[in-house]
Amino acid sequence: MSRAARASIDLDAIRHNYRLAKSQAPAARAAAIIKAGAYGHGAVAVAGALKAEADAFGVACIEEAIELRDAGIEQPVVLLEGFFEADELEYIARHNLWTAIHSPHQVEALARAQLPAPVNVWLKMDSGMHRLGIEPENLRATYDRLRSLGQVAEITLMSHFACADELDLETTRQQIACFDRAVEGIDAPHSLSNSPATLAWPEAHRDWLRPGLMLYGATPFLVEQEQAARLEAAMTLTSEIIAIHDLQPGDAVGYGAGFVCERPSRIATVAMGYGDGYPRHAANGTPVVVNGQRTVTAGRVSMDMMTIDITDIPGAGIGDRVELWGKQLPVSEVAVHCSTIPYTLLTCLTPRVPRVYE
Ligand SMILES: *Cc1c(COP(=O)(O)O)cnc(C)c1O
Repeated sequence: MSRAARASIDLDAIRHNYRLAKSQAPAARAAAIIKAGAYGHGAVAVAGALKAEADAFGVACIEEAIELRDAGIEQPVVLLEGFFEADELEYIARHNLWTAIHSPHQVEALARAQLPAPVNVWLKMDSGMHRLGIEPENLRATYDRLRSLGQVAEITLMSHFACADELDLETTRQQIACFDRAVEGIDAPHSLSNSPATLAWPEAHRDWLRPGLMLYGATPFLVEQEQAARLEAAMTLTSEIIAIHDLQPGDAVGYGAGFVCERPSRIATVAMGYGDGYPRHAANGTPVVVNGQRTVTAGRVSMDMMTIDITDIPGAGIGDRVELWGKQLPVSEVAVHCSTIPYTLLTCLTPRVPRVYE
C-alpha cells in the first residue's frame, strides 16, 4: 500500500531507560534531555511519555521549549545553551524555563532585563572542554553577581564532560576536580552528568542528572558496560525488500560500482536511503537484520534505496522486513560501521520516515 520505511518508537523503553538513569543516583533529580526532537524520537511524544515522572526536560533552545509548552508540557525546561538574544527572557520568565548562563554577556543581559518573575539559572562552568562556560577563576564572582540580581531565583552549578564515554582516561576525574575547586564554599546544587557519566561516573552524579542518549536505549560506550547493558532500544528502524537480483562473481552493485560480487550472490534492494537519514557512508559490511537473521550491506547507500547481501538467507523474499537498527541490532553498533556515533544516526533521521508510537 505504501513505502514501508518507518521508525517504531517504544515509549515504554524510554520510561525504562529514564528509570534506569534515576536508579543510578536515587537521591538525584534528572532532566530528561529531549533536544533535537528527542534525538529523532519526537520531543512532544517523548515528553508526553515521561510527563508523569520526569523532574525536568532539557532542550537546546527556546524554539524547542516553546514546542513543549504549546503541547501542554508543564515541567521545568532547561535551556542548555541559555538564551541567544535578550528578548527571549520575557518568555523564559513567564513559562518557567530555566536558562543556562555560560558567558558574561548573558549575565549582563539578565541584569538589564525587566522580567515578570525571577528565573532559575544553571550557571555553567568550563571545567576543561572549552566549548561553553565561565572560566573557573571567574566562577565565584559570576555566582555572586547573579545572586545579587533580583532577576535571578535559584542557581544550579553545571559543567559538561568532554570524555565521559572513555572509561580509562583521567580527563573526567580532572574535570570533576577542577569543578569542585572552583565551586568550593558555594551552597548550590550541582549538575555534571550526561549519559556516560550517569552510567559510569558515580562521583559525578550530584543533584541533577542530564541523561540524553541513554533514554533512547543506545550505549554511549564503545566497550561493554554493565549499566549500559540494561538499556532498551527505543527506536527500531525498518523497511522492506523491494527487489532481488541473482548476480555472478565480478558483477557490480550500485553507484560507483561500490560492491563487486566475489561469489554467486543474491542482492536485495531495500527501500531505505540517505534521504531517510540512513548514512551514505555506511561501509560495505554494515550489519542489517532480515527476518531475524543478520546479514550485511553490499554497495553504496543511495538516496531512497540501499542494497544488502541475502545470499545466506535462503528464505528471504520481496516484502520481507529489514531492520536497520533497533531491538535486534544496536544503533551504536551500526554507528561504528558508519564511522560515526549513535547520536548522529538518531538525530539525522529525516521527516520522511514516519514515527510510529507503541
Ligand atoms: C546534550 C546534552 C546532554 C545529554 O548528553 P548525552 O550524552 O546525550 O546524555 C547533557 N548535557 C548537556 C549540556 C547537553 O548539551
